Amino acid sequence: MKSVRRRLPGLVELHRIAALAMRELGITTKLGRPEIFLLRRKEMEALAAHFFRRPEQHANVLAFEADDFPHPAPRGQKFLGQIYLNQDLSNRSELLIHGLLHLLGYRHGRARDMIRMQRREKELRRLINDQ
Ligand SMILES: [Zn+2]
Repeated sequence: MKSVRRRLPGLVELHRIAALAMRELGITTKLGRPEIFLLRRKEMEALAAHFFRRPEQHANVLAFEADDFPHPAPRGQKFLGQIYLNQDLSNRSELLIHGLLHLLGYRHGRARDMIRMQRREKELRRLINDQ
C-alpha cells in the first residue's frame, strides 16, 4: 500500500490559517497580521538560545510581539508580531496557532491560563481541520 504523505502547509497557507483563526476569535486583521517564518531546527535552537535560558523548550515555536521589532512595518501595513516555526515538524499549523495566541496575549505559565489557551487551541484546530 502506498503511504499517504500529507503536504505540509507553506507560508501562503499558514497566513491564510492565521487570518482564519483571527476572524474566528473576532479580531480584525486591521490590528495587524503576523509575520511568519519557517526555520530549520538548528536555526530555531540558535534563535531560542538568544532569548531563553532553556532554549530546548522553545525550539518548536517562537512568538515575538511587534514591540520587540527591529524594523518597522512597510507603509500601510501593521504587524502583530513575528512567529517562527520549526519547519521540520508536521504540526506546523498547530504551532502557528500556538504562536498566534501568544501574540494575542494568551499565556500558559499558570494552570488556569494553560487551560484557557489549550481550549482555544482545540477550537481553532477543529476549525482548520474542518475546512
Ligand atoms: Zn507557548
